[in-house]
Amino acid sequence: MKAITKGIAVAVCLFLCLPLTSVAEEDSEENKLKMRLALYEKTEGLSQIPWYYFAAIDQYEHNIHKETASSSGLIGITFPKEMWNGNANPIEKDQQHTGIIEIFNGIGDDGDGDKIADRTNDEDILYTMANMILKEGKTKQDIKIALWKYYHRELTVHSIMNMAKVFQKYQTLDLEANVFPVPTTSNYSYRNTWGDPRGFGGRRIHEGTDIFANYGVPVRSTTYGVIEMKGWNRFGGWRIGIRDTHNIYHYYAHLNGFEDNLKVGQVVKPGDTVGYVGASGYGPKGTSGKFPPHLHYGMYKDNGEKEWSFDPYPYLRKWEKVSRSK
Ligand SMILES: [Zn+2]
Repeated sequence: MKAITKGIAVAVCLFLCLPLTSVAEEDSEENKLKMRLALYEKTEGLSQIPWYYFAAIDQYEHNIHKETASSSGLIGITFPKEMWNGNANPIEKDQQHTGIIEIFNGIGDDGDGDKIADRTNDEDILYTMANMILKEGKTKQDIKIALWKYYHRELTVHSIMNMAKVFQKYQTLDLEANVFPVPTTSNYSYRNTWGDPRGFGGRRIHEGTDIFANYGVPVRSTTYGVIEMKGWNRFGGWRIGIRDTHNIYHYYAHLNGFEDNLKVGQVVKPGDTVGYVGASGYGPKGTSGKFPPHLHYGMYKDNGEKEWSFDPYPYLRKWEKVSRSK
């Protein structure tokens, strides 16, 4: 009898609890973003550096680290231990008195007022980042210099500054929406051609998905991001590159033309028209019609050290479904 009651209880729970769990999970994702924003805003209050710079640095570090120093997991910024504690510091603990760290020229600092610089504490991490930036100053240019001195990598500095622009413009950390790159009401077709050999430019494999559509069909940004590249390329013809807040570069090639007034450095959102389907490329500037009109769509991931292309096809399928259901 007991076992049966238990069985029923389990069944009832499976029925009732499962949907609840997924709602709770969604809710906690939302809460996490709220908590992260509150941490950035608090650090802005302490440093007068706008919160969206912390958001951008932190998002960038979330993108490149599988495991972060933060014990809550909310903050992605992970300072190397030797840098935090000071190179010659014999104590290896993540939590140390700020006085000791100072003696050894570590950068670890105390943001929550307990005199302990804790490498795993969100407020201490952000306050330390703020102080590192303030050594250069508070202007956009100062922030760029501070980032360069810390990361020693142009693409990283560039990506962070661009992400900050996106956060500033939309005033939210929730930038997860996506759309399919051409209107799903237009005539188009595509299949998975990842890795196929290509006919132009020597031995290259196909790094993307071709979406066949008529000349002039609008090409839309699939994500939030910033236009990083716009112009002619021998292979891609008229092409545009947009980097999103996940360090992913979205490449749109063979366009017929660009949307008017579109500039490098401009912030875009999912669905913004950036250009039109064409057949440009495979030759010097202006070459067109060497193949049927299509959009070549590529995705490249940057992990803070190198960039590589990955197959966009599964994402396109997903975004197509979402776009069709709207
Ligand atoms: Zn292609």
